[in-house]
Amino acid sequence: MMLRPLLYKDLNESQKELRRKSLDFIGYSVLFSQLTALVYVCIYANFLRRGAVRRLEWRLRHRILGGKTPIRGKVQSVGAAVVYWSWAGLMVWLCVKDVDHDYLHLTKAFGMAAAASLPLNVLLGMKYSPLKLVFPNCSYEGPVNVVHQWLGNQMYLLLTVHACLYLKFFWDTSRMKTRLLETDVLCGVCAFGIMTMLVTSSHPLVRKSFYSVFYNLHIILSVLLPPLLYFHVSHSRPYMIPTVGMLIVDRVLRVMFTVSTTATISLDPQSSILDISVSFPHKPPPSAGSHVLLNVPSLSLWTKNPFTVVESGNGHVRMVARVRGNLTKKLTKLTKVPINIEGGYGGHGVSKELVGGVDRVLLIAGGIGGAFTLPWARYLKANGVDARFLWAVPKVGDLLWAGDGVALAEVYITGGHRNGEGGCGDEEGMELLDAGSPRDALSIPPLRFGSGRPDVRRAVREVVGREGRVLVMVCGPDLMAEDVKNAVRSHALTGRNVTLHMEAFGH
Ligand SMILES: Cc1cc2nc3c(=O)[nH]c(=O)nc-3n(C[C@H](O)[C@H](O)[C@H](O)COP(=O)(O)OP(=O)(O)OC[C@H]3O[C@@H](n4cnc5c(N)ncnc54)[C@H](O)[C@@H]3O)c2cc1C
Repeated sequence: MMLRPLLYKDLNESQKELRRKSLDFIGYSVLFSQLTALVYVCIYANFLRRGAVRRLEWRLRHRILGGKTPIRGKVQSVGAAVVYWSWAGLMVWLCVKDVDHDYLHLTKAFGMAAAASLPLNVLLGMKYSPLKLVFPNCSYEGPVNVVHQWLGNQMYLLLTVHACLYLKFFWDTSRMKTRLLETDVLCGVCAFGIMTMLVTSSHPLVRKSFYSVFYNLHIILSVLLPPLLYFHVSHSRPYMIPTVGMLIVDRVLRVMFTVSTTATISLDPQSSILDISVSFPHKPPPSAGSHVLLNVPSLSLWTKNPFTVVESGNGHVRMVARVRGNLTKKLTKLTKVPINIEGGYGGHGVSKELVGGVDRVLLIAGGIGGAFTLPWARYLKANGVDARFLWAVPKVGDLLWAGDGVALAEVYITGGHRNGEGGCGDEEGMELLDAGSPRDALSIPPLRFGSGRPDVRRAVREVVGREGRVLVMVCGPDLMAEDVKNAVRSHALTGRNVTLHMEAFGH
Protein backbone atom coordinates (compact mmCIF):
# COMPACT_ATOMS: atom_id res chain seq x y z
CA MET A 1 0.00 0.00 0.00
CA MET A 2 2.99 2.25 0.71
CA LEU A 3 1.11 5.04 2.45
CA ARG A 4 3.58 6.62 4.86
CA PRO A 5 5.44 8.91 4.67
CA LEU A 6 3.22 11.03 2.44
CA LEU A 7 5.21 13.35 0.21
CA TYR A 8 4.40 16.28 -2.07
CA LYS A 9 5.93 14.58 -5.10
CA ASP A 10 7.05 16.56 -8.08
CA LEU A 11 5.87 14.32 -10.91
CA ASN A 12 6.80 14.54 -14.57
CA GLU A 13 4.12 14.36 -17.28
CA SER A 14 4.17 10.58 -17.72
CA GLN A 15 4.00 10.05 -13.95
CA LYS A 16 1.03 12.45 -13.79
CA GLU A 17 -0.60 10.48 -16.58
CA LEU A 18 -0.11 7.27 -14.61
CA ARG A 19 -1.62 8.87 -11.51
CA ARG A 20 -4.57 10.07 -13.57
CA LYS A 21 -5.19 6.55 -14.85
CA SER A 22 -4.94 5.16 -11.35
CA LEU A 23 -7.44 7.76 -10.08
CA ASP A 24 -9.83 7.03 -12.95
CA PHE A 25 -9.58 3.38 -12.03
CA ILE A 26 -10.86 4.26 -8.53
CA GLY A 27 -13.97 5.77 -10.12
CA TYR A 28 -14.57 2.66 -12.26
CA SER A 29 -13.97 0.43 -9.22
CA VAL A 30 -16.60 2.36 -7.24
CA LEU A 31 -19.10 1.95 -10.09
CA PHE A 32 -18.26 -1.74 -10.45
CA SER A 33 -18.65 -2.28 -6.69
CA GLN A 34 -22.03 -0.54 -6.74
CA LEU A 35 -23.21 -2.64 -9.66
CA THR A 36 -22.00 -5.83 -7.99
CA ALA A 37 -23.76 -4.86 -4.76
CA LEU A 38 -27.02 -4.12 -6.61
CA VAL A 39 -26.94 -7.42 -8.50
CA TYR A 40 -26.15 -9.25 -5.26
CA VAL A 41 -29.03 -7.59 -3.38
CA CYS A 42 -31.37 -8.41 -6.25
CA ILE A 43 -30.30 -12.09 -6.30
CA TYR A 44 -30.43 -12.19 -2.50
CA ALA A 45 -33.92 -10.71 -2.31
CA ASN A 46 -35.31 -12.97 -5.01
CA PHE A 47 -33.50 -16.29 -4.59
CA LEU A 48 -31.31 -16.58 -1.49
CA ARG A 49 -33.52 -15.08 1.19
CA ARG A 50 -34.74 -18.30 2.71
CA GLY A 51 -33.87 -20.92 5.27
CA ALA A 52 -30.62 -20.43 7.15
CA VAL A 53 -29.75 -17.28 5.19
CA ARG A 54 -33.01 -15.67 6.24
CA ARG A 55 -32.41 -16.64 9.86
CA LEU A 56 -28.97 -15.07 9.67
CA GLU A 57 -30.54 -11.88 8.31
CA TRP A 58 -32.92 -11.77 11.29
CA ARG A 59 -30.01 -12.36 13.64
CA LEU A 60 -28.16 -9.45 12.04
CA ARG A 61 -31.18 -7.20 12.53
CA HIS A 62 -30.47 -7.33 16.25
CA ARG A 63 -30.18 -3.76 17.55
CA ILE A 64 -26.94 -2.87 19.29
CA LEU A 65 -27.03 0.92 19.35
CA GLY A 66 -29.45 3.77 19.88
CA GLY A 67 -31.40 2.73 22.99
CA LYS A 68 -35.04 1.71 22.79
CA THR A 69 -36.12 4.04 20.04
CA PRO A 70 -35.37 3.09 16.45
CA ILE A 71 -34.26 6.04 14.34
CA ARG A 72 -34.74 5.58 10.63
CA GLY A 73 -31.48 5.77 8.73
CA LYS A 74 -29.31 5.43 11.84
CA VAL A 75 -26.87 2.54 11.89
CA GLN A 76 -28.33 0.72 14.89
CA SER A 77 -28.33 -2.99 14.08
CA VAL A 78 -25.49 -5.46 13.62
CA GLY A 79 -26.41 -5.95 9.96
CA ALA A 80 -26.59 -2.21 9.27
CA ALA A 81 -23.19 -1.74 10.91
CA VAL A 82 -21.69 -4.56 8.83
CA VAL A 83 -23.05 -3.10 5.58
CA TYR A 84 -22.24 0.52 6.43
CA TRP A 85 -18.69 -0.04 7.67
CA SER A 86 -17.81 -2.65 5.02
CA TRP A 87 -18.76 -0.16 2.33
CA ALA A 88 -16.86 2.64 4.07
CA GLY A 89 -13.86 0.28 4.41
CA LEU A 90 -14.03 -0.59 0.71
CA MET A 91 -14.06 3.10 -0.26
CA VAL A 92 -11.06 3.89 1.97
CA TRP A 93 -9.18 0.86 0.68
CA LEU A 94 -9.78 1.94 -2.94
CA CYS A 95 -8.47 5.41 -2.04
CA VAL A 96 -5.29 4.29 -0.31
CA LYS A 97 -4.30 1.14 -2.16
CA ASP A 98 -2.12 2.73 -4.91
CA VAL A 99 -0.95 5.83 -3.10
CA ASP A 100 2.78 5.06 -3.24
CA HIS A 101 3.68 7.88 -0.79
CA ASP A 102 2.02 10.43 -3.10
CA TYR A 103 0.06 12.96 -0.97
CA LEU A 104 -1.84 14.40 -3.91
CA HIS A 105 -2.82 10.94 -5.13
CA LEU A 106 -4.46 10.27 -1.77
CA THR A 107 -6.12 13.71 -1.75
CA LYS A 108 -7.59 13.35 -5.22
CA ALA A 109 -8.59 9.73 -4.60
CA PHE A 110 -11.04 10.72 -1.87
CA GLY A 111 -12.63 13.29 -4.18
CA MET A 112 -12.87 10.74 -6.98
CA ALA A 113 -14.54 8.11 -4.79
CA ALA A 114 -17.10 10.71 -3.65
CA ALA A 115 -17.81 11.91 -7.21
CA ALA A 116 -18.26 8.35 -8.47
CA SER A 117 -20.77 7.67 -5.66
CA LEU A 118 -23.04 10.56 -6.65
CA PRO A 119 -24.96 8.93 -9.55
CA LEU A 120 -26.02 5.96 -7.41
CA ASN A 121 -27.01 8.24 -4.59
CA VAL A 122 -29.25 10.27 -6.88
CA LEU A 123 -30.70 7.02 -8.25
CA LEU A 124 -31.50 5.90 -4.70
CA GLY A 125 -33.09 9.25 -3.81
CA MET A 126 -35.26 9.59 -6.93
CA LYS A 127 -39.00 9.42 -6.30
CA TYR A 128 -39.36 7.49 -9.57
CA SER A 129 -36.19 5.48 -9.17
CA PRO A 130 -35.93 2.43 -11.42
CA LEU A 131 -34.53 0.69 -8.32
CA LYS A 132 -38.05 0.75 -6.91
CA LEU A 133 -39.06 -1.50 -9.81
CA VAL A 134 -36.32 -3.95 -8.83
CA PHE A 135 -37.39 -3.83 -5.17
CA PRO A 136 -41.13 -3.21 -5.49
CA ASN A 137 -42.10 -4.32 -2.00
CA CYS A 138 -40.05 -1.76 -0.13
CA SER A 139 -42.03 0.74 1.91
CA TYR A 140 -42.16 4.42 0.92
CA GLU A 141 -39.47 5.49 3.38
CA GLY A 142 -37.87 2.04 3.37
CA PRO A 143 -34.45 0.50 2.68
CA VAL A 144 -33.83 2.29 -0.63
CA ASN A 145 -34.18 5.62 1.13
CA VAL A 146 -32.09 4.47 4.09
CA VAL A 147 -29.21 3.42 1.81
CA HIS A 148 -29.53 6.85 0.12
CA GLN A 149 -28.91 8.45 3.52
CA TRP A 150 -25.97 6.20 4.33
CA LEU A 151 -24.31 6.78 0.99
CA GLY A 152 -24.87 10.55 1.30
CA ASN A 153 -23.11 10.54 4.68
CA GLN A 154 -20.21 8.50 3.37
CA MET A 155 -19.81 10.78 0.35
CA TYR A 156 -19.69 13.71 2.74
CA LEU A 157 -16.97 12.05 4.83
CA LEU A 158 -14.92 11.33 1.70
CA LEU A 159 -15.33 14.94 0.55
CA THR A 160 -14.35 16.23 4.00
CA VAL A 161 -11.09 14.27 3.91
CA HIS A 162 -10.51 15.47 0.32
CA ALA A 163 -11.09 19.14 1.32
CA CYS A 164 -8.94 18.95 4.48
CA LEU A 165 -6.02 17.32 2.66
CA TYR A 166 -6.18 19.94 -0.08
CA LEU A 167 -6.31 22.79 2.45
CA LYS A 168 -3.20 21.41 4.15
CA PHE A 169 -1.48 21.17 0.78
CA PHE A 170 -2.39 24.77 -0.11
CA TRP A 171 -1.24 25.94 3.30
CA ASP A 172 2.08 24.09 3.19
CA THR A 173 2.84 25.32 -0.32
CA SER A 174 1.70 28.93 0.37
CA ARG A 175 -1.15 28.79 -2.15
CA MET A 176 -4.02 29.64 0.16
CA LYS A 177 -4.45 33.14 -1.24
CA THR A 178 -4.14 32.17 -4.88
CA ARG A 179 -5.73 28.74 -5.42
CA LEU A 180 -8.75 29.35 -3.22
CA LEU A 181 -9.77 32.24 -5.47
CA GLU A 182 -9.53 30.30 -8.71
CA THR A 183 -12.75 29.12 -10.34
CA ASP A 184 -12.14 25.36 -10.18
CA VAL A 185 -11.32 25.44 -6.46
CA LEU A 186 -14.17 27.87 -5.73
CA CYS A 187 -16.59 25.43 -7.40
CA GLY A 188 -15.24 22.65 -5.17
CA VAL A 189 -15.59 24.82 -2.05
CA CYS A 190 -19.19 25.72 -2.97
CA ALA A 191 -20.00 22.04 -3.66
CA PHE A 192 -18.59 21.14 -0.25
CA GLY A 193 -20.69 23.91 1.35
CA ILE A 194 -23.79 22.53 -0.37
CA MET A 195 -23.05 19.00 0.80
CA THR A 196 -22.62 20.38 4.33
CA MET A 197 -26.07 22.00 4.16
CA LEU A 198 -27.66 18.85 2.70
CA VAL A 199 -26.15 16.58 5.33
CA THR A 200 -26.93 18.96 8.21
CA SER A 201 -30.54 19.46 7.14
CA SER A 202 -30.97 15.68 6.74
CA HIS A 203 -29.99 15.01 10.33
CA PRO A 204 -32.99 13.41 12.11
CA LEU A 205 -33.17 16.31 14.59
CA VAL A 206 -33.46 18.94 11.84
CA ARG A 207 -35.58 16.77 9.55
CA LYS A 208 -38.06 16.11 12.31
CA SER A 209 -38.43 19.69 13.49
CA PHE A 210 -38.05 21.54 10.18
CA TYR A 211 -39.20 19.07 7.57
CA SER A 212 -39.96 21.69 4.93
CA VAL A 213 -36.47 23.20 5.32
CA PHE A 214 -34.94 19.77 4.77
CA TYR A 215 -37.26 19.05 1.84
CA ASN A 216 -36.79 22.37 0.03
CA LEU A 217 -33.02 22.41 0.52
CA HIS A 218 -32.83 18.91 -0.92
CA ILE A 219 -34.87 19.86 -3.98
CA ILE A 220 -32.95 23.08 -4.71
CA LEU A 221 -29.39 22.26 -3.65
CA SER A 222 -29.20 18.77 -5.13
CA VAL A 223 -29.60 20.41 -8.55
CA LEU A 224 -26.63 22.73 -7.97
CA LEU A 225 -24.21 20.01 -6.89
CA PRO A 226 -23.52 18.30 -10.28
CA PRO A 227 -22.74 21.53 -12.24
CA LEU A 228 -20.37 22.70 -9.49
CA LEU A 229 -18.54 19.37 -9.48
CA TYR A 230 -18.54 19.38 -13.29
CA PHE A 231 -16.59 22.64 -13.33
CA HIS A 232 -14.46 21.64 -10.33
CA VAL A 233 -12.45 18.99 -12.18
CA SER A 234 -12.78 17.57 -15.67
CA HIS A 235 -12.43 13.92 -14.61
CA SER A 236 -15.56 14.09 -12.46
CA ARG A 237 -17.60 14.87 -15.59
CA PRO A 238 -18.41 11.29 -16.63
CA TYR A 239 -20.25 10.97 -13.30
CA MET A 240 -21.97 14.35 -13.36
CA ILE A 241 -23.57 14.02 -16.78
CA PRO A 242 -25.65 10.91 -15.88
CA THR A 243 -26.43 12.50 -12.52
CA VAL A 244 -27.92 15.56 -14.21
CA GLY A 245 -29.79 13.28 -16.61
CA MET A 246 -31.36 11.34 -13.75
CA LEU A 247 -32.30 14.50 -11.87
CA ILE A 248 -33.99 15.87 -14.98
CA VAL A 249 -35.86 12.61 -15.65
CA ASP A 250 -37.01 12.47 -12.02
CA ARG A 251 -38.26 16.06 -12.01
CA VAL A 252 -40.01 15.64 -15.37
CA LEU A 253 -41.71 12.43 -14.20
CA ARG A 254 -42.76 14.11 -10.98
CA VAL A 255 -44.35 16.96 -12.91
CA MET A 256 -45.98 14.49 -15.32
CA PHE A 257 -47.46 12.49 -12.44
CA THR A 258 -48.74 15.57 -10.65
CA VAL A 259 -52.42 16.20 -11.06
CA SER A 260 -53.98 19.59 -10.36
CA THR A 261 -57.46 19.08 -9.03
CA THR A 262 -59.79 19.99 -6.19
CA ALA A 263 -60.03 18.55 -2.71
CA THR A 264 -63.14 18.53 -0.57
CA ILE A 265 -62.22 18.60 3.08
CA SER A 266 -64.20 17.95 6.20
CA LEU A 267 -63.13 17.74 9.82
CA ASP A 268 -64.79 15.09 11.94
CA PRO A 269 -66.29 16.97 14.88
CA GLN A 270 -65.53 14.07 17.23
CA SER A 271 -61.91 13.73 16.30
CA SER A 272 -59.05 15.73 14.90
CA ILE A 273 -59.04 13.76 11.69
CA LEU A 274 -59.59 15.36 8.32
CA ASP A 275 -61.42 13.58 5.55
CA ILE A 276 -59.96 14.59 2.20
CA SER A 277 -61.75 13.62 -0.97
CA VAL A 278 -60.00 14.34 -4.25
CA SER A 279 -61.43 14.06 -7.74
CA PHE A 280 -59.37 12.63 -10.59
CA PRO A 281 -61.45 13.63 -13.59
CA HIS A 282 -58.94 12.88 -16.36
CA LYS A 283 -56.46 10.32 -15.04
CA PRO A 284 -56.87 6.98 -13.29
CA PRO A 285 -56.56 7.64 -9.55
CA PRO A 286 -53.71 6.12 -7.52
CA SER A 287 -54.65 2.85 -5.91
CA ALA A 288 -55.73 2.39 -2.29
CA GLY A 289 -52.80 1.76 0.05
CA SER A 290 -50.36 3.81 -2.07
CA HIS A 291 -49.01 7.17 -0.96
CA VAL A 292 -49.38 10.58 -2.54
CA LEU A 293 -47.72 13.92 -1.97
CA LEU A 294 -50.21 16.70 -1.38
CA ASN A 295 -49.50 20.32 -2.13
CA VAL A 296 -51.98 23.10 -1.47
CA PRO A 297 -50.69 26.08 -3.49
CA SER A 298 -52.88 28.61 -1.67
CA LEU A 299 -51.20 27.61 1.61
CA SER A 300 -47.67 26.92 0.45
CA LEU A 301 -46.17 26.94 -3.03
CA TRP A 302 -43.52 24.29 -2.31
CA THR A 303 -44.45 22.11 0.59
CA LYS A 304 -45.67 18.61 -0.16
CA ASN A 305 -46.90 16.31 2.58
CA PRO A 306 -47.32 12.57 2.15
CA PHE A 307 -50.65 10.86 2.80
CA THR A 308 -52.07 7.43 2.09
CA VAL A 309 -54.95 6.65 -0.23
CA VAL A 310 -57.64 4.94 1.83
CA GLU A 311 -60.18 4.47 -0.92
CA SER A 312 -59.83 4.76 -4.65
CA GLY A 313 -62.33 4.42 -7.48
CA ASN A 314 -64.89 6.17 -9.68
CA GLY A 315 -62.50 9.04 -10.40
CA HIS A 316 -62.01 9.81 -6.72
CA VAL A 317 -59.56 9.07 -3.96
CA ARG A 318 -60.15 9.48 -0.27
CA MET A 319 -57.49 10.20 2.33
CA VAL A 320 -57.60 10.87 6.02
CA ALA A 321 -55.16 13.10 7.86
CA ARG A 322 -54.57 13.55 11.54
CA VAL A 323 -54.36 17.24 12.40
CA ARG A 324 -50.86 17.85 13.68
CA GLY A 325 -48.88 20.82 12.45
CA ASN A 326 -48.55 23.40 9.78
CA LEU A 327 -50.48 22.16 6.73
CA THR A 328 -53.09 20.00 8.44
CA LYS A 329 -54.05 22.77 10.90
CA LYS A 330 -54.58 25.17 8.02
CA LEU A 331 -56.64 22.56 6.16
CA THR A 332 -59.16 22.42 9.02
CA LYS A 333 -60.32 25.90 7.99
CA LEU A 334 -60.99 24.93 4.38
CA THR A 335 -63.80 22.98 2.76
CA LYS A 336 -62.92 23.05 -0.93
CA VAL A 337 -59.47 23.92 -2.22
CA PRO A 338 -57.38 23.51 -5.39
CA ILE A 339 -54.51 21.09 -4.81
CA ASN A 340 -51.64 19.41 -6.62
CA ILE A 341 -51.34 15.73 -5.94
CA GLU A 342 -48.30 13.65 -6.88
CA GLY A 343 -47.97 9.86 -6.80
CA GLY A 344 -48.88 7.17 -6.08
CA TYR A 345 -45.71 6.10 -4.46
CA GLY A 346 -44.80 3.02 -2.56
CA GLY A 347 -44.75 -0.33 -4.27
CA HIS A 348 -48.00 -1.35 -2.70
CA GLY A 349 -51.08 0.07 -3.42
CA VAL A 350 -52.93 -3.07 -2.46
CA SER A 351 -51.94 -5.75 -4.92
CA LYS A 352 -51.35 -9.47 -5.14
CA GLU A 353 -47.57 -9.05 -5.26
CA LEU A 354 -46.98 -8.62 -1.55
CA VAL A 355 -49.43 -11.33 -0.49
CA GLY A 356 -48.79 -13.83 -3.29
CA GLY A 357 -48.26 -17.33 -1.84
CA VAL A 358 -49.08 -16.17 1.68
CA ASP A 359 -51.38 -18.36 3.82
CA ARG A 360 -52.21 -15.90 6.58
CA VAL A 361 -51.79 -12.19 7.16
CA LEU A 362 -51.65 -10.28 10.42
CA LEU A 363 -52.29 -6.55 10.09
CA ILE A 364 -51.42 -4.31 13.01
CA ALA A 365 -52.17 -0.60 13.01
CA GLY A 366 -51.65 2.20 15.49
CA GLY A 367 -53.84 5.32 15.22
CA ILE A 368 -53.78 6.90 11.79
CA GLY A 369 -51.63 3.96 10.63
CA GLY A 370 -55.04 2.40 9.92
CA ALA A 371 -55.02 4.51 6.75
CA PHE A 372 -52.47 2.07 5.37
CA THR A 373 -53.75 -1.18 6.88
CA LEU A 374 -57.48 -0.68 6.29
CA PRO A 375 -57.21 -0.83 2.47
CA TRP A 376 -55.24 -4.05 2.93
CA ALA A 377 -57.83 -5.49 5.27
CA ARG A 378 -60.52 -4.76 2.69
CA TYR A 379 -58.45 -6.22 -0.13
CA LEU A 380 -57.59 -9.41 1.78
CA LYS A 381 -61.22 -9.93 2.78
CA ALA A 382 -62.38 -9.43 -0.82
CA ASN A 383 -59.82 -11.98 -2.01
CA GLY A 384 -60.59 -14.55 0.64
CA VAL A 385 -57.17 -14.39 2.32
CA ASP A 386 -57.09 -15.50 5.96
CA ALA A 387 -56.34 -12.21 7.74
CA ARG A 388 -56.51 -10.76 11.24
CA PHE A 389 -56.49 -7.01 11.78
CA LEU A 390 -55.60 -5.43 15.13
CA TRP A 391 -56.08 -1.69 15.42
CA ALA A 392 -55.09 0.34 18.46
CA VAL A 393 -56.38 3.90 18.77
CA PRO A 394 -56.44 6.35 21.67
CA LYS A 395 -60.22 6.82 21.44
CA VAL A 396 -63.29 5.55 19.66
CA GLY A 397 -63.58 8.84 17.78
CA ASP A 398 -60.37 8.00 15.92
CA LEU A 399 -62.17 5.15 14.18
CA LEU A 400 -65.12 7.06 12.82
CA TRP A 401 -63.53 7.81 9.47
CA ALA A 402 -63.19 4.09 8.77
CA GLY A 403 -67.00 3.62 8.54
CA ASP A 404 -67.90 -0.02 7.89
CA GLY A 405 -64.16 -0.86 7.70
CA VAL A 406 -64.22 -1.08 11.50
CA ALA A 407 -66.10 -4.35 11.15
CA LEU A 408 -62.90 -5.94 9.85
CA ALA A 409 -60.83 -4.96 12.87
CA GLU A 410 -60.24 -6.02 16.42
CA VAL A 411 -60.18 -2.63 18.03
CA TYR A 412 -58.18 -1.64 21.11
CA ILE A 413 -58.83 1.65 22.84
CA THR A 414 -55.61 2.66 24.52
CA GLY A 415 -57.09 5.65 26.34
CA GLY A 416 -55.05 8.47 24.79
CA HIS A 417 -51.36 8.62 25.43
CA ARG A 418 -49.44 11.74 24.66
CA ASN A 419 -46.15 10.06 23.94
CA GLY A 420 -46.87 8.95 20.44
CA GLU A 421 -48.64 5.68 21.18
CA GLY A 422 -51.73 4.82 19.27
CA GLY A 423 -50.80 6.82 16.25
CA CYS A 424 -47.99 7.40 13.83
CA GLY A 425 -45.63 9.73 15.60
CA ASP A 426 -47.02 12.47 17.79
CA GLU A 427 -50.71 12.51 18.48
CA GLU A 428 -50.84 16.25 18.87
CA GLY A 429 -54.45 16.67 17.88
CA MET A 430 -55.72 14.57 20.77
CA GLU A 431 -56.90 17.48 22.85
CA LEU A 432 -59.69 17.86 20.31
CA LEU A 433 -60.97 14.40 21.17
CA ASP A 434 -63.27 13.31 23.86
CA ALA A 435 -61.48 10.59 25.80
CA GLY A 436 -64.74 8.99 26.79
CA SER A 437 -66.32 8.73 23.35
CA PRO A 438 -68.96 6.01 23.59
CA ARG A 439 -68.35 2.87 21.59
CA ASP A 440 -71.85 3.07 20.17
CA ALA A 441 -70.63 6.12 18.26
CA LEU A 442 -69.57 3.54 15.70
CA SER A 443 -72.27 2.72 13.17
CA ILE A 444 -70.96 -0.84 12.81
CA PRO A 445 -69.37 -2.78 15.68
CA PRO A 446 -65.82 -4.02 15.32
CA LEU A 447 -64.97 -7.73 15.43
CA ARG A 448 -63.75 -7.28 18.97
CA PHE A 449 -63.54 -4.41 21.40
CA GLY A 450 -60.63 -4.29 23.86
CA SER A 451 -59.13 -1.70 26.10
CA GLY A 452 -55.43 -1.03 26.58
CA ARG A 453 -52.76 -2.02 24.17
CA PRO A 454 -53.09 -5.15 22.06
CA ASP A 455 -50.76 -7.98 23.00
CA VAL A 456 -48.79 -8.00 19.76
CA ARG A 457 -46.44 -10.78 20.91
CA ARG A 458 -49.41 -13.07 21.49
CA ALA A 459 -51.07 -12.08 18.23
CA VAL A 460 -47.89 -12.82 16.30
CA ARG A 461 -47.44 -16.12 18.17
CA GLU A 462 -51.00 -17.18 17.31
CA VAL A 463 -50.73 -16.36 13.62
CA VAL A 464 -47.23 -17.78 13.18
CA GLY A 465 -47.90 -20.83 15.33
CA ARG A 466 -49.73 -22.71 12.60
CA GLU A 467 -48.07 -24.19 9.52
CA GLY A 468 -47.80 -22.12 6.34
CA ARG A 469 -46.42 -18.83 5.13
CA VAL A 470 -47.31 -15.76 7.15
CA LEU A 471 -47.10 -12.06 6.40
CA VAL A 472 -47.17 -9.52 9.20
CA MET A 473 -47.79 -5.89 8.24
CA VAL A 474 -47.52 -3.06 10.70
CA CYS A 475 -48.09 0.66 10.40
CA GLY A 476 -47.98 2.54 13.67
CA PRO A 477 -45.76 4.43 16.06
CA ASP A 478 -42.08 3.52 16.06
CA LEU A 479 -42.21 1.65 19.34
CA MET A 480 -45.22 -0.41 18.27
CA ALA A 481 -43.43 -1.32 15.04
CA GLU A 482 -40.35 -2.25 17.07
CA ASP A 483 -42.41 -4.54 19.35
CA VAL A 484 -43.90 -6.26 16.32
CA LYS A 485 -40.47 -6.61 14.74
CA ASN A 486 -39.06 -8.23 17.88
CA ALA A 487 -42.03 -10.58 18.11
CA VAL A 488 -41.66 -11.64 14.47
CA ARG A 489 -37.90 -11.95 14.90
CA SER A 490 -38.17 -14.49 17.67
CA HIS A 491 -40.29 -16.76 15.45
CA ALA A 492 -38.23 -16.18 12.30
CA LEU A 493 -35.14 -17.30 14.23
CA THR A 494 -36.79 -20.62 15.00
CA GLY A 495 -37.27 -21.19 11.28
CA ARG A 496 -40.91 -20.10 10.89
CA ASN A 497 -41.83 -18.88 7.44
CA VAL A 498 -42.82 -15.33 8.36
CA THR A 499 -42.25 -12.07 6.52
CA LEU A 500 -42.55 -8.63 8.05
CA HIS A 501 -43.58 -5.48 6.24
CA MET A 502 -43.17 -2.25 8.20
CA GLU A 503 -44.71 0.93 6.82
CA ALA A 504 -43.55 4.12 8.50
CA PHE A 505 -45.41 7.44 8.49
CA GLY A 506 -42.45 9.06 10.22
CA HIS A 507 -39.36 10.80 8.99
C1 LIG B 1 -45.59 7.47 3.39
C2 LIG B 1 -46.36 8.30 4.38
C3 LIG B 1 -47.74 8.19 4.40
C4 LIG B 1 -48.47 8.94 5.35
N1 LIG B 1 -49.83 8.82 5.37
C5 LIG B 1 -50.54 9.53 6.28
C6 LIG B 1 -51.98 9.42 6.33
O1 LIG B 1 -52.59 8.71 5.55
N2 LIG B 1 -52.62 10.16 7.26
C7 LIG B 1 -51.95 10.97 8.14
O2 LIG B 1 -52.59 11.62 8.97
N3 LIG B 1 -50.61 11.07 8.11
C8 LIG B 1 -49.89 10.39 7.19
N4 LIG B 1 -48.54 10.52 7.15
C9 LIG B 1 -47.90 11.46 8.06
C10 LIG B 1 -48.12 12.84 7.47
O3 LIG B 1 -47.39 13.01 6.27
C11 LIG B 1 -47.68 13.93 8.41
O4 LIG B 1 -48.29 13.71 9.64
C12 LIG B 1 -48.15 15.25 7.87
O5 LIG B 1 -47.43 15.55 6.68
C13 LIG B 1 -47.96 16.30 8.88
O6 LIG B 1 -48.37 17.51 8.29
P1 LIG B 1 -48.71 18.76 9.19
O7 LIG B 1 -49.36 19.81 8.40
O8 LIG B 1 -49.48 18.33 10.36
O9 LIG B 1 -47.31 19.26 9.69
P2 LIG B 1 -46.12 19.86 8.86
O10 LIG B 1 -45.59 20.96 9.72
O11 LIG B 1 -46.48 20.19 7.44
O12 LIG B 1 -45.13 18.63 8.88
C14 LIG B 1 -44.81 18.07 10.12
C15 LIG B 1 -44.17 16.74 9.96
O13 LIG B 1 -44.75 15.98 8.91
C16 LIG B 1 -43.81 15.13 8.32
N5 LIG B 1 -43.72 15.34 6.87
C17 LIG B 1 -44.13 16.42 6.17
N6 LIG B 1 -43.88 16.25 4.87
C18 LIG B 1 -43.29 15.05 4.76
C19 LIG B 1 -42.76 14.31 3.64
N7 LIG B 1 -42.79 14.81 2.38
N8 LIG B 1 -42.24 13.08 3.88
C20 LIG B 1 -42.17 12.60 5.15
N9 LIG B 1 -42.65 13.26 6.23
C21 LIG B 1 -43.18 14.45 6.03
C22 LIG B 1 -42.54 15.49 8.96
O14 LIG B 1 -42.34 14.56 9.93
C23 LIG B 1 -42.75 16.83 9.58
O15 LIG B 1 -41.94 17.01 10.70
C24 LIG B 1 -47.80 9.80 6.23
C25 LIG B 1 -46.42 9.92 6.17
C26 LIG B 1 -45.70 9.17 5.25
C27 LIG B 1 -44.21 9.31 5.20
